Amino acid sequence: MGTDHYAYTVLGVKVPRSKLFIEKQVPNCPHPQKQDEFCSLCGKKNKMIVVEEPIGIYYEEEGHLGSFEALTNDNCQNEIIIVFQHVKSTHRGVIVNFSNNLVEEAKKSLKEFLEPLELWEEDKFGIWCVLISYY
Ligand SMILES: [Zn+2]
Repeated sequence: MGTDHYAYTVLGVKVPRSKLFIEKQVPNCPHPQKQDEFCSLCGKKNKMIVVEEPIGIYYEEEGHLGSFEALTNDNCQNEIIIVFQHVKSTHRGVIVNFSNNLVEEAKKSLKEFLEPLELWEEDKFGIWCVLISYY
């Protein structure tokens, strides 16, 4: 038991978490909605409520956006980092070296994937340090 902390050095791009969800109106309970104020089957109020649903290609639990890994930074949970490549370390003194070619390749493939989804922001692409804790 305990908590494990990892520092990830990530070559990737940050995306606002809110852009990975859509708001959807759904009934307050699963039963057929009637005109009455309350549901006759479960007693809940008959009304529509707004829920957040991940966009079709975002698998929040698994941490994936399409085929890319998607990490949540513990220090900044409203941003999701879409990963091209990462290096995980549990101790100090790890030197990470991403070649220029790799950086170019990462930028190209992330841009190709994210731009049509309107999730690409040039200045959010780079090498990021991410803290992840597992409980
Ligand atoms: Zn009901």
